Amino acid sequence: MSYSGNCHCKKITFDLDHDPMMQFQCHCSTCQQRLGTSLSALAWPEHEIKINGDMKTYTIVGGSGLNMHYFHCPDCSTLIYNKPELLEGMAYIPAGLLDDQIEFKPTVELWSLNRPKWMQKASSIIVSLEDNGTLERLQELLENLDQRE
Ligand SMILES: [Zn+2]
Ligand SMILES: [Zn+2]
Repeated sequence: MSYSGNCHCKKITFDLDHDPMMQFQCHCSTCQQRLGTSLSALAWPEHEIKINGDMKTYTIVGGSGLNMHYFHCPDCSTLIYNKPELLEGMAYIPAGLLDDQIEFKPTVELWSLNRPKWMQKASSIIVSLEDNGTLERLQELLENLDQRE
C-alpha cells in the first residue's frame, strides 16, 4: 500500500511506497508539550520518505540522552516527521498528516503512565511500555511488527 500526505499549507508534500513498520502513540512529556497532546505516528525508514520541498530542523536532546530531530514546514510550521538518533534511520510521521489519517491504528504505546487521564488506551494496542523501551526492545518490536512485503 502507498501513503501520501502534506503539511497544512501544502508547501511540503510526501509519498511512501511501503507500509509503515510501526503505528504507535507516545505519551511522553516532550510530545505533550511540543504537540499539545500525545504523538500518534507511523514509523518508516527515513530513506523511504519521498519529500518534496525544503524543511527546517529543530533538534533537542531526547529522553534517551540522544538527539531528536524535528523537521517542519518553514512556512506553516507543521511537523512533517521527527527522527530519533536512538533508532538510527527511523522517522516518525504524525498520523494526522496522512491523506488516510482516519485509518490510523496504533499497536504500540510508549510512556503509558503519562497517558492523559481523559484518553482511553486504544483498543488496538498490543504492546504498552511504561517508558520509551530500550533500543533492543524497540528493534525487536520493529522486526516482529514488520509484516511488509
Ligand atoms: Zn506548510
Ligand atoms: Zn514522546
